Amino acid sequence: MNIQQIETFLDQVLAGDRILYNVDFVELKSRLNSLLEKAHDAAQAEYLKVIHTPGHERSAELQDQYYGTIYPHTLAGWTKKLPKTASPAFLNALGAFWDVSVQFTPACEKFLKAKLLVVKTRKPSERPRTTPERTLDNTGACACCSQNVKLDRGLIVAHGYTIRWGFQSGSCFGVGYLPIEVSDEGLRGALQAYERQLATARLALEYSPCTRRERADLEGRISGSKSAIAHYAAAIKVWALKALPSERKI
Ligand SMILES: [Zn+2]
Repeated sequence: MNIQQIETFLDQVLAGDRILYNVDFVELKSRLNSLLEKAHDAAQAEYLKVIHTPGHERSAELQDQYYGTIYPHTLAGWTKKLPKTASPAFLNALGAFWDVSVQFTPACEKFLKAKLLVVKTRKPSERPRTTPERTLDNTGACACCSQNVKLDRGLIVAHGYTIRWGFQSGSCFGVGYLPIEVSDEGLRGALQAYERQLATARLALEYSPCTRRERADLEGRISGSKSAIAHYAAAIKVWALKALPSERKI
């Protein structure tokens, strides 16, 4: 983006014709800073052309303009300090510094105004979707993890693991069951599975020699299984038939 393109962009933002997302603002700020720095560098080069001779030492004039750093918010202050005239040896340098001000002042003023309009929400993607939008057709909630999942001949299809009860399970236990809207069999299946897991872990803890780490793992399983059992027992009690998402009227 060059300075004209930045100004056009900012004009559109200030006119309310386009939204200034934070991501664009950050990009714009960095671009504007880098253009300012480049222009200032070029003006500094002009200043360095002044040859040291008695009568017009290079350090005599325009030092503040040479050393000062310019950002959008400091350009106005920097410009205020620019002298209107200079001795003949410094005229070119002064002209170069004024050029920076004239070229960048409008964009920097617009930039500072636009800063107040930055929208913090995430910018929507500009790339079109390559996958079809996911719909709720033929879906139901998994009894085990409560996720909305596709159905295959009415049953929950394979879906990712859960660490809900403190340990990882490769594939969700609810796979292959009817969705929870239709039946509580998934809840009952999960309850039985966790009861079995609790019993197995208790036996292992009592009778198998195990390292401290294995012991901690078994204790984690026991406590996770207990929580899961309490959860599924309560869910079975209040279970009631519901409409599947595709059957619900909006
Ligand atoms: Zn699940």
